[in-house]
Amino acid sequence: MTTETIFDKIINREIPTEIVFENDSVLGFKDINPQAPIHVLFIPKTRIPTINDLTDEQKHIVGDLYLAARDYAKQIGEDENGYRVIMNCNENGQQTVFHIHLHFLAGRQMTWPPG
Ligand code: 5GP
Repeated sequence: MTTETIFDKIINREIPTEIVFENDSVLGFKDINPQAPIHVLFIPKTRIPTINDLTDEQKHIVGDLYLAARDYAKQIGEDENGYRVIMNCNENGQQTVFHIHLHFLAGRQMTWPPG
C-alpha cells in the first residue's frame, strides 16, 4: 500500500480544485502554482508514487495520460500551437508530489534546456 498524497484528496473532491478533464482512468486539473498561462496536471486515478514504481502491466496508464493531454490540447485549441508535457521523478527531477502526474504546459513559447 502506497502513501496517500494531496492528489487523492483531489480525486475524492475533498479540496477545491479546478478540474478540466476526466475520464474513467484520468483526472486533469489546474496546477495551483502555474508555470505557464495554461498549466494542467493529468493524473491516473490509480495511486503510483513515481515512474520507478510503474509495472509493465500498468503501461496503459501512461498511455492514458498522454491521450488525455492530446485530447485536452485539441479541446482548448492549443494542439497546433504546441505545448510541453513533463513528468518529474524523485529528487533530481524535482518531484514533490508522489503520485505520478503529467504536467501540461501551454500558452507561451517554451525554452530549452529546461532549468
Ligand atoms: P511535481 O513537482 O511533483 O512535479 O509537481 C507537483 C505539482 O503539483 C506542482 O506543480 C504543484 O504546484 C502542484 N500542486 C501541489 N499541491 C497542489 C494542490 O493542492 N492543488 C493543485 N491544483 N496543485 C497542486
